[in-house]
Amino acid sequence: MRKYVIMGVQGSGKSSQSEMLAGGLDLVHISVGDIFRWNVQNHTKMGAQVRRAMAAGELVSDDLAESVVRARLAEHDWNYGFIIDGFPRNRRQAEFFLESYDIDAVIHLDLPDSEVRRRVLARRLCARCGMDYNLIANSPAVPGTCDACGGELTTREDDTEKALEVRLRDYHEKTDPVLDLFRRKEYIITVDARPPKQQVQQDIRKRLGLPPAPGGN
Ligand code: AMP
Repeated sequence: MRKYVIMGVQGSGKSSQSEMLAGGLDLVHISVGDIFRWNVQNHTKMGAQVRRAMAAGELVSDDLAESVVRARLAEHDWNYGFIIDGFPRNRRQAEFFLESYDIDAVIHLDLPDSEVRRRVLARRLCARCGMDYNLIANSPAVPGTCDACGGELTTREDDTEKALEVRLRDYHEKTDPVLDLFRRKEYIITVDARPPKQQVQQDIRKRLGLPPAPGGN
């Protein structure tokens, strides 16, 4: 059983790296942001509560984020473990997490703010199947159209310059101290998130003492 947390600023590749790691190790990938986005898209009561904060790039309340994590982990569909992405994002959430669950490692994807701006503002998402694109490194064959399903590519509502500045500020003010907390407990591995994603994945696995991903270098 392996229990990992993945942390990194927006656009650092948390979601892709979590998927790649989870796929090979049979871990469940739990993305708190995806759970909130699903609720917004499906017009649930929770969606209505979080929509405005999310669009502005602000964090939603700790109570709500904690209850989402608690409920998701209580499903116990993670026989081989989990990788949780987007949580904890501040000291209170970190304390809640450490009190409730033991973790094997925190993977910290390190990316300078200048690169974050470049990546996030180029990020696109298929409105139909959810496939991720990036107009710099991974653009679709036909502009504005998903290669996989032909759906329309859209921009995440919070991928605007204004919302990004709020998220970057929050990250440095609130999430950096969480990294310090984990560093003191020696859980953390820091990986450079600038190289191509396959290389970042191999670095993560090497640092965690895991076998390389199949087909990797
Ligand atoms: P993400 O996809 O991780 O960038 O999350 C998207 C948005 O969901 C964030 O900007 C917040 O509004 C909200 N969110 C995700 N995780 C948390 C969390 N742990 N605490 C509070 N808000 C969160």
